[in-house]
Amino acid sequence: MDRKCDVVIIGAGIVGCALAYELAQYQLSVAVLEKEADVGWGASKANSGIIHASVHAEPQTLKAKLCREGNELYKELAPKLGVELRKTGMLMVAQSEQQLKSLEEAKKRGRANGEVGLQLLSREELLAKEPALSPAVAGGLFAPSACTIAPYKMTVALFEAAQTNGVKFYFQEPVKEFVLENGQIAAVKTVNLTISTRFVVDAAGLAAGEVAELAGCGFQLLPRAGEEYILDKKVGDIVSHVIFPLPTPTSKGILAIPTADHNLMVGPTASDGVANTHTTPEGKQQVFSFIKKLIPSISERNVIASFAGVRPVSETDDFLIGPTSCTGFFLAAGMQSPGLTAAPAVAKMLTGMLAEAGLKLVKKEQLLPRSKPLEFRELSRQRREELIRQDPAWGRIICRCEEVTEAEIVEAIRRGATTLDGIKFRTRLGMGRCQGGFCTPRVMKIIARELGIPLTAINKRGTGTEVAPLESKQLLAEEDKDELFF
Ligand SMILES: Cc1cc2nc3c(=O)[nH]c(=O)nc-3n(C[C@H](O)[C@H](O)[C@H](O)COP(=O)(O)OP(=O)(O)OC[C@H]3O[C@@H](n4cnc5c(N)ncnc54)[C@H](O)[C@@H]3O)c2cc1C
Repeated sequence: MDRKCDVVIIGAGIVGCALAYELAQYQLSVAVLEKEADVGWGASKANSGIIHASVHAEPQTLKAKLCREGNELYKELAPKLGVELRKTGMLMVAQSEQQLKSLEEAKKRGRANGEVGLQLLSREELLAKEPALSPAVAGGLFAPSACTIAPYKMTVALFEAAQTNGVKFYFQEPVKEFVLENGQIAAVKTVNLTISTRFVVDAAGLAAGEVAELAGCGFQLLPRAGEEYILDKKVGDIVSHVIFPLPTPTSKGILAIPTADHNLMVGPTASDGVANTHTTPEGKQQVFSFIKKLIPSISERNVIASFAGVRPVSETDDFLIGPTSCTGFFLAAGMQSPGLTAAPAVAKMLTGMLAEAGLKLVKKEQLLPRSKPLEFRELSRQRREELIRQDPAWGRIICRCEEVTEAEIVEAIRRGATTLDGIKFRTRLGMGRCQGGFCTPRVMKIIARELGIPLTAINKRGTGTEVAPLESKQLLAEEDKDELFF
């Protein structure tokens, strides 16, 4: 299939989707090529979900500048796209008198980066804000601008808003080749597509160096894996701010994060050279032995899920954003933390750079809004009853732990989910205490019915991850007897 586009974005993580949304504001034809079956399945779904205050990165770095700008942009962007920003603020905690000096340095760094409202706290002031902290703490730094967000929901929202406004997304289409003419990008090829274009943006996450190699300007990225542990909602309010220790040379340290979905999450670790997304007994031990010294009431007994994500670390330890030696080929690479925070600012910066390189930007007169999908668990009893009268699928609860109804699953499929993970990240189905033990067979039947595919074709995250062997069909039939109604 041959196509022609103004810009091709490689990778539909938070950065690729933020850029797609930014470019959708203009009269342009834009395509996004993604190797997976859905958006956000790289680092963008497997991170701490913090919209950081810019207190960690040194002034003059892209990380510092784009973190500050991105944090500011989220305040308008998230509500506009119907995604909750939980305004937690952050506390950086000194665990000894000797560490207090580092808090002052962090405050200085933050002010130089443009943060406002930073406040050094005495031990007593800190404990008054967070009584669950160990009485052994020495003092803290409060930064009000930090928030938490569900990163997968934000990525999906950007994707939907971009798609609604004309951006074309192609899934399970890894880029295979670039066609160059006199050192200038002329086309991008996948197995099924050839797209003629003058501009490519490489937002391929951990694979960005390999993708750039196809255009003759490759580079190395160091993988740095981080394990995170999610605790039951019943202990979701142990702390109300994101709690940071002092940073280490390679990471922001092990944190306690009150997530936007009202779980408490602890992590991440930082394992250099590890590119896989397995969690390990050593990682768990490291996370809990550290965090329990800071917040003694946290217990590994409350863990309901764990995951790992991989940061792509560049040689300069900063983001790599901008043009390359291959004309028309731009990078949005080395997007380690705070890449989630920075994404909307990265998108604006790249759009400016593309314009300088000759991309003509003419604003569209009007953008179509993204409608936020309804979430049953958030609705009043009266609204629930109204919806059930209109469509009984609103009354059929498929995921008991997170109260996800059949109607929400059907809507997620209508909006583009084709896999179990696609539904999970859109609706939170299977993210509660039972982790999908109860609802998986039910949701599979709904997917099969809605997409008109056999149960055996249903997969967790794309072709090759099918979940139902033939013999489980009987189980799937029996589950109907136990259906739950609101
Ligand atoms: C443990 C951990 C915690 C973090 N916590 C935070 C945080 O709290 N706050 C914060 O701001 N940042 C955080 N980050 C960083 C943040 O997650 C990343 O910076 C961000 O998700 C990077 O987004 P991306 O779109 O660049 O990459 P990704 O999300 O990895 O997306 C890249 C996409 O490219 C696709 N792709 C790869 N190769 C190809 C190909 N050949 N063709 C087509 N597509 C391809 C991939 O499938 C993927 O979908 C954290 C990261 C980790 C790992």
